[in-house]
Amino acid sequence: MESTREWAEKQDLEDPLSVFRKEFALPTGVIQLNGNSLGPLPRAVPDALDEVVRHQWGEHLIRAWSEDGWWDAPVRVGDRIGRLIGAGAGRTVVGESTSVQLFNAVTAAARLRPNRPVLVSDSTNFPTDRYLATSVARLLGLRLIETPMGELGEVLRRYRGEVGAILCGAVDFRTGELWDISRTTADIHAAGGIAVWDLSHAAGAVPLDVDAAGVDLAVGCGYKYLSGGPGAPAFLYSAARHHDTLDLPLTGWHGHARPFDMADEFVPASGIDRARTGTPHILSLLALEAALEPLEAAGVAAVRRKSLRLGDYLTRLVAEPSDASGAPGSDRGLEVVTPSAHDRRGNHITLRHARAPEVSAALMERGVVTDSRPPDLLRLCLNGLYVSHTDVFDAVATLRDVLREVSRAGEVAG
Ligand SMILES: *Cc1c(COP(=O)(O)O)cnc(C)c1O
Repeated sequence: MESTREWAEKQDLEDPLSVFRKEFALPTGVIQLNGNSLGPLPRAVPDALDEVVRHQWGEHLIRAWSEDGWWDAPVRVGDRIGRLIGAGAGRTVVGESTSVQLFNAVTAAARLRPNRPVLVSDSTNFPTDRYLATSVARLLGLRLIETPMGELGEVLRRYRGEVGAILCGAVDFRTGELWDISRTTADIHAAGGIAVWDLSHAAGAVPLDVDAAGVDLAVGCGYKYLSGGPGAPAFLYSAARHHDTLDLPLTGWHGHARPFDMADEFVPASGIDRARTGTPHILSLLALEAALEPLEAAGVAAVRRKSLRLGDYLTRLVAEPSDASGAPGSDRGLEVVTPSAHDRRGNHITLRHARAPEVSAALMERGVVTDSRPPDLLRLCLNGLYVSHTDVFDAVATLRDVLREVSRAGEVAG
């Protein structure tokens, strides 16, 4: 019986991914359903950082740039993330924040279509994406059209031949809705545009094949499903066909063809190296590199399969009546917002509740880490790499307790 804790425990015993949970330093008594905001600490990271700081920096000093591979780290780690998103070697670089990489990528995308006056931006995207698209439009004198992903097709038809860069979010950070990257990119190309994808909620969560999908440029976050830690550097991907013409606005010396010539003029490096900026944030970058190991070992496809199972399980539990006389989820003011179809959703499930911020805070107090997004959305991230069926069972039981209390408090308050 699914509605018993024993059933959940049995699933965990039979789960081939359960061995990966011990690769993360999850505090006891805490259920981490927030990995889409800040992934937990991989156990390998503290030792890796200790080695980098004490041994490499402390003893090798400047020699570490060559001896310890610091110089190559942005493209080396880029290749490892590339494998997780379906990018061939030499197409992904790691560095800077997602916000900075968005500026870099969207500007370069618009410059690939110099005579196109329209820049399109996904209006459901994370705010920083929207703010940066607005800034790029202002800087380059482009007309900004904001549209929800669901209406992008129509915008592309209306502005066919006028659109240059189009910035899309792969997974809606609020609802968890997943868009079809391959089909959307084909539609963008049919309109003559350049597809820039924000993969922040997709990289490491959903099997991706950016090369095969024909994606032009992509950007993604290092501290969500990649568990790189707070402030982990972001990544930028560019299809190989654009490397020679990619005119990135951030022309730092590490992107120079011959950085140690200290030349007067910027000459971009060939290949993805031109997307390097300045001196990388080595400590964060190498923490991210160490963090990738469990995900690489498990494989994104296997993690995804389990995450989907956990999501299905959670939505079924939420819909169940709480006891013989109790009401199912929909009668407790809860509504599942995330699409149920596997090919339409990322790895977090979003529930709507009028008092979501209060519910999330009460869950946190009881050791269930979720978050809320205004005005009424509660997000639960089910990363199969370290979340178990028992976690889901316990989290839903706690959610029921919290909802009972919240509704009682609501009655008292009138
Ligand atoms: C998390 C996230 C970001 C984060 O940007 P930072 O520069 O790292 O703060 C940006 N865009 C999307 C879509 C995200 O999910």
